[in-house]
Amino acid sequence: MNILAKRNGAGYALTPYRIEFRPQRDLHKREELKDVLDLLYARKVKAWWYSVAARGSIPLFRSKALPFREDADTELYRWLVEEAHDRGIAMFSWEYLNTAPLAAAQHPEWRFRYFGEEKAGRSTRDDHFVCYNSPYGELLKQYCLEVVGELGFDGIWFDGCYMHSDHSGRMACRCSYCTDKYRQATGQSVPETVDYRNAGFRRFADWRYDDFTAYWRSLSRYIRERKENAIIALNYFNRIGHDERSGSPLRRMPMDAMIASESCSKPYQLLLQHRTLRALNDNYPTEVWDYFRDAAQHASDVPEPEPASMLFHARCSATAGGYASFGFEAPPSSYAELMSALSAALDPIAEYVGGEPERCIALVLSGATKDYAYVKDDGCPDAWQTWKAVHGMHNLLNSLHWPTEILLDNMLTPDFLNRFKAVILPDVRCLSDASAAHLQQYVERGGFVLLSGACGILTELGEERKRGALDEWFGIKGRDTAPSRPLLDIRDPGLLASGIPSSCMLTGTAMLMRTEGGEVLAAGRYRKPMPRHSWSPDGIAANTNPLHSGDAIVRKSHGNGAAVWLASNVGAGYAEHPSLRTREAVGAILGRHLERPFRTDAPANVVVTRWEQEGRTVFHLLNMPQSLLHLPANGNSAIYPEDFTPTRPISIRLTESWQTAYSPSGGTVRIQREETETCITLDSLEQHAVIVLNR
Ligand SMILES: [Zn+2]
Repeated sequence: MNILAKRNGAGYALTPYRIEFRPQRDLHKREELKDVLDLLYARKVKAWWYSVAARGSIPLFRSKALPFREDADTELYRWLVEEAHDRGIAMFSWEYLNTAPLAAAQHPEWRFRYFGEEKAGRSTRDDHFVCYNSPYGELLKQYCLEVVGELGFDGIWFDGCYMHSDHSGRMACRCSYCTDKYRQATGQSVPETVDYRNAGFRRFADWRYDDFTAYWRSLSRYIRERKENAIIALNYFNRIGHDERSGSPLRRMPMDAMIASESCSKPYQLLLQHRTLRALNDNYPTEVWDYFRDAAQHASDVPEPEPASMLFHARCSATAGGYASFGFEAPPSSYAELMSALSAALDPIAEYVGGEPERCIALVLSGATKDYAYVKDDGCPDAWQTWKAVHGMHNLLNSLHWPTEILLDNMLTPDFLNRFKAVILPDVRCLSDASAAHLQQYVERGGFVLLSGACGILTELGEERKRGALDEWFGIKGRDTAPSRPLLDIRDPGLLASGIPSSCMLTGTAMLMRTEGGEVLAAGRYRKPMPRHSWSPDGIAANTNPLHSGDAIVRKSHGNGAAVWLASNVGAGYAEHPSLRTREAVGAILGRHLERPFRTDAPANVVVTRWEQEGRTVFHLLNMPQSLLHLPANGNSAIYPEDFTPTRPISIRLTESWQTAYSPSGGTVRIQREETETCITLDSLEQHAVIVLNR
């Protein structure tokens, strides 16, 4: 990963943070740009996204591929890139992948054709979107080559990597190029309306994912074959609020490009977002963008905002192995002090970001489940159900200090599974036969799998199965069809010994199981609730609904490994109600089946990650107040310095032998060799710390 990152894009991918400042309508004057360059140089900013187009994708250089505006000035850009390089600044051009108003005006047939009824209020902007399957797709490649070739930019950062309209998020594309291509590939017609309840539509949606990804791949290959050191970065949109409409699949997508993103729900999703990006493609360290924000106005145009929010964004990114990029709306000179603060804090840690993550637990984020398992009455997916299940489980694992990476649907293969000690499936309802078989083999060979909720009850395309993909293997004879909130009777001596009360509840709803051949660690029972306040003449009515019972937590050994199935969808519950009892129960189950790669006494609100980097090991410790993790996230993402109460001393214990430890982020670290362990102690943690160990 780091070899590419060092060689390409003038080192862009290893810069401590990147800023976005680009022309709005008019070309900047050289004096203005020189002032910006001098400012960035003085404030030690090492990467800048400018743009060779005015806002809205109006090219401002004399492109041979795409129409440009009259006042285009090719020389200005050549000059700018040279000046930036003289100051050691990597220079990217920010572009929109899917808009080209001048080209669309000449070729209306290249435009996106949206699904659904034409609603009133279609914006002018919606007519600017053009389809990559039209001739625009090839012209865009040539245009990009001009930008990194003739103009000399180090790379292109593509925003607009999605296939929906601007104002209403209507899905695209039904243009003649797309419909012809789909018919040729499958013999089918593109469906008329968006309806995920319809199997034909789901097949089209699946094809659309593959087709769009194939274009990204061909675009980046086209550039990299002709300009070896350029980086194509693509903004990834299948995230909270954009999801399936974007056309980008939640699947590993090998390609010679950098997959980056924008913060979707800062700071709540940021760790998970970086880990997801790494699963998609790990050619480069990950990158997530956000605005320079200020709590005073919760706006992105407030000069000199308090740095805490931006520092947290960058440090949270660093903890998850990635970097931050930032945009803003006031002139760059309004952020001189902020840039100095960011550079002072982030320069010393930049080289300790990323590397090989500790691969201990693989948490499965299933795009198929997100799209197909929970479809609303309007025919659109309720993606929130899957985000909650994964987000909650991810929070829980962070609090337990189990190192976690993400696996996507197409990564449930021996190659990826075998890198991990355990695999967790949080309500992964859509599972292919092949994935189910690979998970079974993984357990047979000694792996541990933790399942929660109704895993495997649907195929990878959302079709109902007569019997769940893992049910026979696990000995599940049946399960409730409606969710309940059962009371658990804990039977397992191990869980009881770890302090779980004999009668308790886990967070999330359950579909109790009927199993055979396994070890029932906990049974569940419930009565259907009575309507709230069911008064009768002599007082509140007793609940006379019949008592229902089933298996709530079951363990089964297979070959050299084991699997534990929780009937409760604890991840979804934990995202909204992070119950300590649930965390303790999951912790006890994991602790019984897995060896920890390191032990720490860090409090639950401190996230600890570990990275291998050429002969050294690096720990990141992040103070992540639990209150920041609550879902749903509110709109105001600004953070106050006082949100981070300094901790007591934190120790990390490893079985390997390390000789020296130091903290490039400041703070005092002590290292102590004990009989069988190395113990590292950090005196106190405020927002974030990096600890580097050398042999
Ligand atoms: Zn199209």
